[in-house]
Amino acid sequence: MHKSALIDWEKIRADFPILDQQVRDQPLIYFDNAATTQKPRAVIETLRNYYEHDNANVHRGLHELSSRATEAYERSRQRVAEFIGAESEEEIVFTRGTTESINLVAQAWGGKFLRPGNVVLLTEMEHHSNLVPWQLIAEKTGAELRFVPVRDDGTLALEKLSSLLTKEVKMFAFTHISNSLGTINPVTELCARARAIGALTLVDLAQSIGHIPVNVRELGCDLAAFSGHKMAGPTGIGVLYGRREILEAIPPWQGGGEMITSVTLQKTTFKRSPHRFEAGTPDIAGAIGLAAAIDYLERIGRADIFQHDSRLTSYAMERLTEIPSLRLLGPPAPRGALVGFVMAAAHPHDLTTFADQRGLALRGGHHCNQPLMRRFGLPGTTRASFYFYNTLEEIDRMVEILRDAVHFFA
Ligand code: PMP
Repeated sequence: MHKSALIDWEKIRADFPILDQQVRDQPLIYFDNAATTQKPRAVIETLRNYYEHDNANVHRGLHELSSRATEAYERSRQRVAEFIGAESEEEIVFTRGTTESINLVAQAWGGKFLRPGNVVLLTEMEHHSNLVPWQLIAEKTGAELRFVPVRDDGTLALEKLSSLLTKEVKMFAFTHISNSLGTINPVTELCARARAIGALTLVDLAQSIGHIPVNVRELGCDLAAFSGHKMAGPTGIGVLYGRREILEAIPPWQGGGEMITSVTLQKTTFKRSPHRFEAGTPDIAGAIGLAAAIDYLERIGRADIFQHDSRLTSYAMERLTEIPSLRLLGPPAPRGALVGFVMAAAHPHDLTTFADQRGLALRGGHHCNQPLMRRFGLPGTTRASFYFYNTLEEIDRMVEILRDAVHFFA
């Protein structure tokens, strides 16, 4: 028996006050965790405590509260660095989230280094946030975008990689876990292949960081992006990780306070990274809340979280195959903690509304994966995504609701 089976998951669930409520006279079932996760009391209280006792602006003040806020903010940077296995806190840039982190790299790195004829390699399964920023900078610089295709089973067509990863490729940016298919990509292998031809790598960790152990040095990536709100932390805070020499080579992307060493009317010199990338007042409370989320997750352990998530996901996949006319997408386990499916008779939006009327929060639509949906010839899917506070009983109830939907929409 795996150790995760010995953990009292019910007790852990009680740390999340929001889950204890009725929606439309039914107990809430929250299966929209790939969009955002819920927050434990430890994170909520950390935010409240910060605002009640320590709130001040960082770095600029010489008074007690400012020192406390600055120390807590910078301690959070260290905590993030430890959490992802970075070499130092100087490799951690606080941003608003995955989307902003990728935009920073596309605009600032791409704006300096991309030339006509250069290639940015992506995959067909990227979230729009790892596609649109590259389209914008490709248009500006004359660089070209290429894509690793997705096979019918939802995995990447790795046999195509050799012909795609040519010397024109300067950046290979791809997701760790697909937010629609649940596919876990072989990040270590992909980073090694890119490094062998001198391309940089950026990994979108949005769906993996809170769910499985992630160590950026073991993955061998140059850059990585994630959001606090998908790992039990607050919204509005996220991270860009970059190896030190990579970040040092990237020019500032936004100008303002905090990021300068000296300013004249005509010219400014900039701080080193990471502060060079954090213009203006940052999300101080968010960073401190993120560190509290990291403490919380590490008390449970991400290996155990993955075991528990996997049990929920495998069970859901098994039970969903019992429903006639329902088709599951994506590869078999091991996979991310989500299942995407289509029901022949019901549009994903109608099915999601049907579920909501019974207290079940699913997500229906293209999931910011329009090209991927087009690849599978679908307008969208319905997605159930899990986290460690979800239960097998909730999955049973979902299956019951979906069975009712089959009759309702027939
Ligand atoms: N990448 C992936 C794989 C995602 O699932 C998401 C969020 N759905 C994002 C990027 C964007 O994250 P955020 O909206 O927090 O910037």
